[in-house]
Amino acid sequence: MGEDWRNAGFGVYVHWPFCAAKCPYCDFNSHVRKTVDQKSWANAYVAEIQSIAARTGNRVIDTIFFGGGTPSLMEPDTVDTVLSAIRENWTLSNTTEISLEANPTSVEASRFKGFADAGVNRISMGVQALNDTDLKALGRMHTAQEASQAFDIAKQNFDNVSFDLIYARQNQTLANWRTELNAALDMAVDHLSLYQLTIESGTRFGDLHARKRLRGLPPDDLAADMYDMTQDLCAAKGLPSYEISNHARPGAECRHNKIYWQYGDYAGIGPGAHGRLTFSGNRIATDTPLMPETWLEVIQSSGTATRDAETISAADQAAEYLMMSLRLTEGSDLSRVNALSKDRVNTQRMAQMIEDGFLTLDNQHLCTTTKGKVVLNAILGELLAIES
Ligand code: SF4
Repeated sequence: MGEDWRNAGFGVYVHWPFCAAKCPYCDFNSHVRKTVDQKSWANAYVAEIQSIAARTGNRVIDTIFFGGGTPSLMEPDTVDTVLSAIRENWTLSNTTEISLEANPTSVEASRFKGFADAGVNRISMGVQALNDTDLKALGRMHTAQEASQAFDIAKQNFDNVSFDLIYARQNQTLANWRTELNAALDMAVDHLSLYQLTIESGTRFGDLHARKRLRGLPPDDLAADMYDMTQDLCAAKGLPSYEISNHARPGAECRHNKIYWQYGDYAGIGPGAHGRLTFSGNRIATDTPLMPETWLEVIQSSGTATRDAETISAADQAAEYLMMSLRLTEGSDLSRVNALSKDRVNTQRMAQMIEDGFLTLDNQHLCTTTKGKVVLNAILGELLAIES
């Protein structure tokens, strides 16, 4: 059997952990700092790239993704230094997807050309809402007009433009969301990430919610109706869902995220970044320190902040592949699951869930139905339950 990761390719994730302000719903590893010494950060990324590449050897890179945090706060020179180091240590093809997450303020949009000159060919903008009242409630620092201008600049500079919207927001009705989503779909956008607002503990919204002071959140059945409508409207306008929250014109799917969902290998570079790397047939889970300052200090003192956290057993690889790939519309390849670990799937419970309309199975391809997607965690619990 070949190495399993080759089924989905190899990507590099670079985490920029800084933001201009902390959004009240955000539980990402993002931090607000008055100043950031970009030169030191660029040098640290280069050291980490060299260190990981020395272990993987030369590989063709399918995708690179600058995520955060807010990577559009990086200087274009910093992005250029990172991409040059990746080019020097691995091999890029002329189809390598290079994405960068951006916030659509006018200051950040003014850097888009510099990012494109450095080699970025895909931008993913955190637009989140198309009206100023809701943007303010979400703690965003841009206006709807700035977002629209940033979108135009993005279209001039990148092959593939995506933006995120959050729905099931406070006081949002089904009709409001229909109007907003239609407006987004009427823009010449290639890809949309559409997330339901979730209230996470440890965030400002989480605190307010715990004190019953976050008002106007839609009830679950309205949020479910919004989800269903989202699928229908996007499909009707030529951006069908290819993952639970992601919609694209055919061919404009985010290839980097598909490496996660199809369970390829990826190097995770930067504070809190996780990786999956295969060395001599062993699949290794890697991690890094969460705090930006710790990450930087560890690299500066020892040349790498990446730690081998665990060698993933074949049975756990089969489970991870299933957990990730069932998010995708194309689903999971059961022959791949079985090649990793025969009998990992509880076939009795799978048959029951197929009968109940949560899953479909066609020629070894297991997919979640629309009804199944909204209860995916429960489905996985059943599929991976050990036979008793
Ligand atoms: S800009 Fe993004 S990463 Fe930064 S705080 Fe807001 S949601 Fe989180």
